[in-house]
Amino acid sequence: MRTLRKAYLEITNVCNLSCAFCPGTRKPASFLSPEDFHTLAAKLRPHTQYLYLHLMGEPLLHPRLDAILAQAEELGFHVMLTTNGTLLGILLAAGIPYKKWLKFFGPLFAIIMVLSMIFVSVGVVIGLGPF
Ligand code: SF4
Repeated sequence: MRTLRKAYLEITNVCNLSCAFCPGTRKPASFLSPEDFHTLAAKLRPHTQYLYLHLMGEPLLHPRLDAILAQAEELGFHVMLTTNGTLLGILLAAGIPYKKWLKFFGPLFAIIMVLSMIFVSVGVVIGLGPF
């Protein structure tokens, strides 16, 4: 069996910055579900010990990061996080515990996504905008 030094698993392509040098992504904004994460991570586990949770997005924005980290630990991974650090700095300055923020942000993000889909769908149906 081939052994990899490390593997990358993008848990989100959503980012709170838009750095000038970043190529970004054309894929729709998404967050990998904990269930899909477990399926993919379990397949990677025989091939590597080191799992990086980052490609193009900001992993600390994932509303189920706690579940993903718990699963990674259960599978025996050494987890690496690459972050732009902005969220940690803001939460630290405001004195907000990270878990409390996740509980707030998860439902809020779901509501925003549903409303966005509704508004875009209505826009497409009534021929509004350059679609
Ligand atoms: S923080 Fe990283 S992913 Fe986000 S815009 Fe900058 S380079 Fe791209």
